[in-house]
Amino acid sequence: MTTIFERLGARPIINASGIYTDLGGSRPSPAVWAAMTEINGSFVSMVELLERAGNTIAGRLGAEAGTITPGAAASIALMVSAAVTGTDGAAGERLPDTAGLRDQIVLQRGHRYKYDRQVALTGAKLALAGDERGTSTDQLRQAIGPRTAALLFPGHLDGAPGTVRLPEAVEVAHQAGIPVLVDAAYQCWPLETFGSHLRAGADLLCASAKYFGGPNAGGFVVGTRALIEAVRSNDFTRYESGSYRTFGRTLKMDRQTVAGVVTAFEEWWAMDHQERLARSAALVRRIGVSLAGLRGLVARPMAFTMDERLVPEPVNALVLDLPGGRAARVADLLEQGAPRILAVREPDRLIFCVDVMDEAEAAVVGERLRIAIAADG
Ligand SMILES: *Cc1c(COP(=O)(O)O)cnc(C)c1O
Repeated sequence: MTTIFERLGARPIINASGIYTDLGGSRPSPAVWAAMTEINGSFVSMVELLERAGNTIAGRLGAEAGTITPGAAASIALMVSAAVTGTDGAAGERLPDTAGLRDQIVLQRGHRYKYDRQVALTGAKLALAGDERGTSTDQLRQAIGPRTAALLFPGHLDGAPGTVRLPEAVEVAHQAGIPVLVDAAYQCWPLETFGSHLRAGADLLCASAKYFGGPNAGGFVVGTRALIEAVRSNDFTRYESGSYRTFGRTLKMDRQTVAGVVTAFEEWWAMDHQERLARSAALVRRIGVSLAGLRGLVARPMAFTMDERLVPEPVNALVLDLPGGRAARVADLLEQGAPRILAVREPDRLIFCVDVMDEAEAAVVGERLRIAIAADG
């Protein structure tokens, strides 16, 4: 019996980088996988499944309603389409033609980020608030006009220099009668953070399932009943059976992914996160054990965050200082060998993140790393 990798001629990777879309996202647990297999055994109304699964998550996070989406990037497009069209099916069908609709999405200048690109997918336009120095509360207020449909707020950039904080931004937006859409893609831990933007007044919040052990192509949106209804009216369902060719048809989901997202969420919600973190620290130690005999090597246990910063806690990564071109040479040896090992490359150091690694892989990484470093002299 050949493996899928042999049949396809693709190379398996030991992921020592962390949760990245390009590496396949996360590693759904056996329970998540079992739920996906279970739902494979029957068909279901996707409209009903999205509603029940979405509302289950909404209930946990203290929102009125929710729905499942194929990821946070898709969620941004769906949240924006909801703000632009509401439940007007004919308007949704016209997107990305927004003629006659309120189609501006306000974003603070200091909040520009990779995924604001999804706004344009709907036909809506970004309206930047503020100037080179940042955005004041007044400037935010002035950026909102008769054509504004919503304020987009990347949750992880709350508190960035020169930006208006979320509670104040919510106040300004609500005074002007527009909703606040929060991308909280990876803000699922600590659990108190998960959904906290709703308590600060956000109208819709989205997250990516890749960060809580769900499928790579999964996510959700939760928020007010009216706006979730607007998201639903723009999603992929009822394109064939309903009256409108919906905007979200290309953002299609399978029932297995929906089951995976909601099961991963429930598992994450009930999980002993101290135990999860202790396991990560143990994996980092496991890699370190293999390097014990290498003289002069500086290896530090650290935390590699979702926005790719190194901080002291909670430990999920081993950082190796390898100056003078050594980092690239060692990384090349790890990538070229079998199995292929991908660490995070920086000019003078390598980061080995254990977020989606298991014990057997940590042992292999340690051993291969020891050999690579010794080979590099
Ligand atoms: C990963 C990520 C997204 C996109 O999430 P997907 O589920 O992969 O579409 C959006 N915003 C932020 C901040 C992210 O990190």
